[in-house]
Amino acid sequence: MKVCKNCWKVYNPTSNNQKYCCKECQKEAHREEKKEYQKNWQKENKEKIKLITKRYYEGNKEKIKKRKEKYYEKNKNKILKHQRNYRERNKEKIKEHSKSYREGNKEKIKEYSKGYREEHKEEMREYSRSYREQNRERLREYYKSYYEQSKRT
Ligand SMILES: [Zn+2]
Repeated sequence: MKVCKNCWKVYNPTSNNQKYCCKECQKEAHREEKKEYQKNWQKENKEKIKLITKRYYEGNKEKIKKRKEKYYEKNKNKILKHQRNYRERNKEKIKEHSKSYREGNKEKIKEYSKGYREEHKEEMREYSRSYREQNRERLREYYKSYYEQSKRT
């Protein structure tokens, strides 16, 4: 008598090295083993995998970007719809999540936006310049009304 290592049933083995009661259990157990193995492998090689993906990404930046763009172009409507649906369905969750993320990563976010600003200084300057130029009239109106309002009070 033996106990099946998969379903814990007691069975009569037909050979000495039989570990499972039936073929199904054997299959299932092997599947689990494989999954477990893969999980362990991934865990043990986390750094290596990260490095490889990073290296691949760096070596294929343009290609990946193009592929992403192409994919996006092709599936734009689907993606947008999906995003919208997701946002609609998870409004509260997203709000909660981003709030707690902001709270937990205050320093990181500050660092990031500082770095972003520094990296995109020219772009941002260019953007605000063209914005001012395009909205000159509107801004003038705005400042005028602001000025008049502050004069009154
Ligand atoms: Zn079994």
